[in-house]
Amino acid sequence: MSIRQPSIQPRILLSPPHISGREHAYVTDAFESGWIAPIGPQVDAFEREMATYTGSKGALALSSGTAAIHLALRLAGVSQGDYVICSTLTFVASANPILYMGATPVFVDSEPETWNMCPLSFQRACRDLAEKGLLPKAAIVVNLYGQSADMEPIADIANRYGITLIEDAAESLGAFYHGKASGTWGRFGIYSFNGNKIITTSGGGMLVSDDIDALEQARFWSTQARDNAPHYQHSEMGYNYRLSNLLAAVGRGQLELLEERVERRRQISQTYSDRLESISGLHFMPEAPNCRSTRWLSALTIDEEIVGVSANQLLACLEHNNIEARPVWKPLHLQPLFANSSYYPYLGEYSVSDKLFTTGICLPSGSSLSKEDQVRVIETIETCIQKS
Ligand SMILES: *Cc1c(COP(=O)(O)O)cnc(C)c1O
Repeated sequence: MSIRQPSIQPRILLSPPHISGREHAYVTDAFESGWIAPIGPQVDAFEREMATYTGSKGALALSSGTAAIHLALRLAGVSQGDYVICSTLTFVASANPILYMGATPVFVDSEPETWNMCPLSFQRACRDLAEKGLLPKAAIVVNLYGQSADMEPIADIANRYGITLIEDAAESLGAFYHGKASGTWGRFGIYSFNGNKIITTSGGGMLVSDDIDALEQARFWSTQARDNAPHYQHSEMGYNYRLSNLLAAVGRGQLELLEERVERRRQISQTYSDRLESISGLHFMPEAPNCRSTRWLSALTIDEEIVGVSANQLLACLEHNNIEARPVWKPLHLQPLFANSSYYPYLGEYSVSDKLFTTGICLPSGSSLSKEDQVRVIETIETCIQKS
């Protein structure tokens, strides 16, 4: 690959926040009403609106998606020394809360069809752990880059083994699986409103469930577990995990635009595949049948043998042209933090997530990406590949 002239073109970001609706108006409301607190009418409304959108009986607004996973694990009764299954191909935030609980993560590989947890590998992990007397209390299934995992078989297996299913839908708000919202297939679902997600509050999260009592318990823990007494009395350990009323106001404005954001991200993904799929050796992340992916990030793999350029070389070439692209998540079973954890690969020794990690990249996919900027990304990719 030859060296290109240093680029003077403006930077194209991977997935920047996109604010254009009534966020301002709701924040102004929150200011004028004096509710500058981690409770208030905007929080209540945001929870109701999220429950309605996802079709859950209830929702609890929290300071992050990670906090939501932490509370879900505690609700599942996970404690010191327990085992918790988790998708391996994900951001570390999916698994850190397992460590907060003093529990041991066990990682399960992806399948090629969805890039998400392989149901057969999940079953193998459950059977194997059960035989060893180490049956996990909970399983965290991640929906990567806007696409649901194959939840029906996964939920069946979890039910059969009596494992509490937690859906990490931080990246898949707005996705559907068999007509039902992604994030509502487990006993608990979590969403994130971090700055790079499809909608954002700058930072925040949501726990959803049909189990209202469980949500009330989590609400109690999330506000320092303050007992119902006139003085400050505490019988249990709690956290400071609530979402601010101001940020909930931003979230409400964002949620109103979610469908538009999904449409736009899907268009972006379609444009990438229409223009680039004819290059042999490039393969876009598939969309599973009977599902709507949000295409939060447009992701593809590069077969170096055919293309003549590796994923890392293409990333470097894009960076040289001031375009932010990213490798696919480094699987958690490969992280130094989890060096001693067990791992159940797709088939024998063959690990799908290892392969996706070495060959996969994510392209700029923000809903505010202009048509011209997307053309620049596409043409840069074509040039990077031709110059090899
Ligand atoms: C962003 C993300 C989280 C964490 O959400 P925060 O709100 O940043 O704590 C968890 N899991 C996945 C898969 C994510 O992408």
